[in-house]
Amino acid sequence: MKRRDFIKKAGIGGVAASSVAAPAIVSAKTKLKWKMVTTWPKNFPVLGTGANELARLITEMSDKRISVKVYGAGELVPAFEVFDAVSRGTAQMGHGAAYYWKGKIEEAQFFSTVPFGMNAQEMTAWLYHGGGMELWEETYAPFGVLPAAAGNTTVQMAGWFNKEINSVADLKGLKMRIPGLGGEVLRRAGGTPVNLPGGELFTSLKTGAIDATEWVGPYNDLAFGLYKAAKYYYYPGWHEPGTTLEAVINKKAFEALDKDLQSIVKNACRMVNQDMSTEFTAKNNAALDTLVNKYKVDVRKLPDDVLGKLKGLSEEVVTELAGKNEAAKKIYQSYDKFRKQVMAWHDISEKIYFNVR
Ligand code: CA
Repeated sequence: MKRRDFIKKAGIGGVAASSVAAPAIVSAKTKLKWKMVTTWPKNFPVLGTGANELARLITEMSDKRISVKVYGAGELVPAFEVFDAVSRGTAQMGHGAAYYWKGKIEEAQFFSTVPFGMNAQEMTAWLYHGGGMELWEETYAPFGVLPAAAGNTTVQMAGWFNKEINSVADLKGLKMRIPGLGGEVLRRAGGTPVNLPGGELFTSLKTGAIDATEWVGPYNDLAFGLYKAAKYYYYPGWHEPGTTLEAVINKKAFEALDKDLQSIVKNACRMVNQDMSTEFTAKNNAALDTLVNKYKVDVRKLPDDVLGKLKGLSEEVVTELAGKNEAAKKIYQSYDKFRKQVMAWHDISEKIYFNVR
């Protein structure tokens, strides 16, 4: 190519330079510094440390061609501004959960968790092998953001209560910290859902400002000392049966990467997605043992009629969410079809095995 043609094609020196600028290809020798903003307190067990691990993996696997620095909630941007920060390129990456962005994208909630919905294994199966990931990418595309599943809490606990729950009537007037769709379900059951950041749970429960709170599971709940502030620890976490955590990546930053670096970023997310689930499983069983045997916590199952009531109301809430817009409907149809199919299979595999072993 003649120099003049090259200059013309590349737009160099011309007024059209900005509109025809070639994509910034990152050469193999370029050292990039990426910021990862998170919705978690810095180094928070599993959630925050999982984000640290994701950063470490990308940095190590790329031989520092991308060095990722992690910021806890509030360090660079507040927790609930992670998505926007990545969208506008303030940070190249973020780590959080899709239901935090429901004010902006209501249907994003399907990509984190749904009350009485799929568990961790089923969510990952839907996302990676059932069409979920394509829908998720489509959902975030208008914001210039690429999503990836990057962790899962596995089934959470129903929470810590200072009131016994023996019947549906006991939900009436129950003031409980429970965010999202689960909170709406509780409201319809006669309770008062409140949303509080994790750091305020202990004091609110201890002082009686709330009657109950959910958080995550034994390991994270033990870390907050919630057993010192409540009498009963109820299960199962009907409202969060397997919350997918997410990595969000600025699409322009991702597309500017060499193919091998793109693969490293995507596969590091995939590794962390699996690893956080297994870490929760390992740490939760040890923490449950401590709560029961060392701290003598009263661990109880929610009565069947209470779970039945919550399930009915959950169906109502989820169906309403599906009716909000065309995108929500499309995602719900894919989610629900997969859920029904996987339940039919798990009914004769995982579930029956759990019951007979
Ligand atoms: Ca929770």
